[in-house]
Amino acid sequence: MQKDQLFTRRRMLLAGTAAAGAAGTAGLFAWGTGGEPVPPAAPAAGAPVRRLPMKPSAYRLQPLTGYGPPSTAPRRIPVRRVPLLRVSARGRTMVLTFDDGPDPRYTPGILDTLAEYDVRAMFFVCGAMVAEHPELLARMADEGHVVGNHTWSHPLLTRLSRRQIRSEMSRTCDVIEDAYGERPRWFRAPYGAWNRAAFQLGAELGMEPLAWTVDTLDWTTPGTHTIVNRVEQGAGPGVVILSHDAGGDRTQSVRALRRYLPQLLDSGYHISVPHRQHL
Ligand SMILES: [Zn+2]
Repeated sequence: MQKDQLFTRRRMLLAGTAAAGAAGTAGLFAWGTGGEPVPPAAPAAGAPVRRLPMKPSAYRLQPLTGYGPPSTAPRRIPVRRVPLLRVSARGRTMVLTFDDGPDPRYTPGILDTLAEYDVRAMFFVCGAMVAEHPELLARMADEGHVVGNHTWSHPLLTRLSRRQIRSEMSRTCDVIEDAYGERPRWFRAPYGAWNRAAFQLGAELGMEPLAWTVDTLDWTTPGTHTIVNRVEQGAGPGVVILSHDAGGDRTQSVRALRRYLPQLLDSGYHISVPHRQHL
């Protein structure tokens, strides 16, 4: 891995806005690369540019799509009836997602492994956890990971009033924006328990509902080996993997990533994050 040019996520968003606008109409999803940059149309004045390691080739090869409008722009999100279970993928692309964090005991270890292999992932965070450890979201932003909304306190949404669901979701959007630098574009219901209000409110708040394809059941602490096996047996194009970086002892989840990530890469999988495209 070489040190090369990389812009902060916010800087990339500025650059990507112009690129996405120029791209015109497109499908809902496109594969982006999370933290990998698009060249800015013009040098942005002022803000210093922080640099992170990345593959130099990625700079040239990634399509200039998918970064979407700035966070202040209204977004039109369809109200779905079911969550997305996988993502459209070209080739052997997969998504790794980590829920319930951030947790200073486990999240840094996961981030370290992702950084070692120059891979971007998704973190569905709980607002209450973010409020305690905003620095971990700043690191996710700096390292190009995508952060999604997993409610404030991880309740079973199907037992809450619409007003309570709105509060759980919107407070979390706000704390993510403060810590991460932009509002989340993805929502995941705790326990995978979705209802109509969750889909409607998520769309109102500019978020797409993303579930998962493969559940590692890592929260049952089945053993590192079992978690690794579940990921490898479930691997496939467009597959979204669910594991956890908080909510209990996640030592096995951290260790498992260290084993299955290099194995997936060796098998030819491209581990990435989805980006939405907007008209
Ligand atoms: Zn959860």
